[in-house]
Amino acid sequence: MEIFENSKKVEQKIQQSLEKSGRSPQDLTVVAVTKTKTIPQVEELYQFGYRHFAENRVEGFLEKKEDMNLPEVKWHFIGSLQTRKVKTVINEIDYFHALDRESLAKEINKRADHTIACFVQVNVTGETSKHGVSPDGLESFIHVLSEFPMVKVVGLMTMAPVDANESELHECFGRLKNLQEVIEAKQLEYAPCRHTSMGMSNDYEIAIQEGASFVRIGSAFFE
Ligand SMILES: *Cc1c(COP(=O)(O)O)cnc(C)c1O
Repeated sequence: MEIFENSKKVEQKIQQSLEKSGRSPQDLTVVAVTKTKTIPQVEELYQFGYRHFAENRVEGFLEKKEDMNLPEVKWHFIGSLQTRKVKTVINEIDYFHALDRESLAKEINKRADHTIACFVQVNVTGETSKHGVSPDGLESFIHVLSEFPMVKVVGLMTMAPVDANESELHECFGRLKNLQEVIEAKQLEYAPCRHTSMGMSNDYEIAIQEGASFVRIGSAFFE
């Protein structure tokens, strides 16, 4: 019951944020982050209509996927991925949200048995503790990815600083949206880059107002 009530609250806030920014619900995909959650909890969300789920640890994800057998589920991997673990996970997922280095792209290219939809992770605010390519390095990084045909850049992803205030959040997400549009305008076949993956439980409303097309929401469903 709690998950149901939480999901209704989330959906209401999403609806309001979309309306506020004149956007259509079709342009937004809600990815439910189920890391550390049990299979019954995931199944509950599934029952309420959710089809996109995200995990950030290879082991937890593989166990969950093996033990769950629900049709139409899309799996997102949102954690940083060690190069040596690519081969065990890359063909089990539908989207990868944390592409941040050439060595990782190279390994994905080598191990993938189909084209992998990837988000390039961008460290918009330059925090030293964060993964992601710098905004200044983004164009050249995207260029390098043309060498890896199994990697398809569907968009950009970022995580806002945990202590950011509202205006800093707007700025962070707005900058990612601008970067995404710059790459999209290049019309690269290997990097259509139509999407932004941004916004978590504490900041998804702002991310949606700034044009997020994928939000990654975990604790708001469960706590
Ligand atoms: C955990 C996590 C989320 C979801 O965070 P919540 O605050 O629980 O909504 C989103 N993105 C990434 C990369 C995460 O690791």
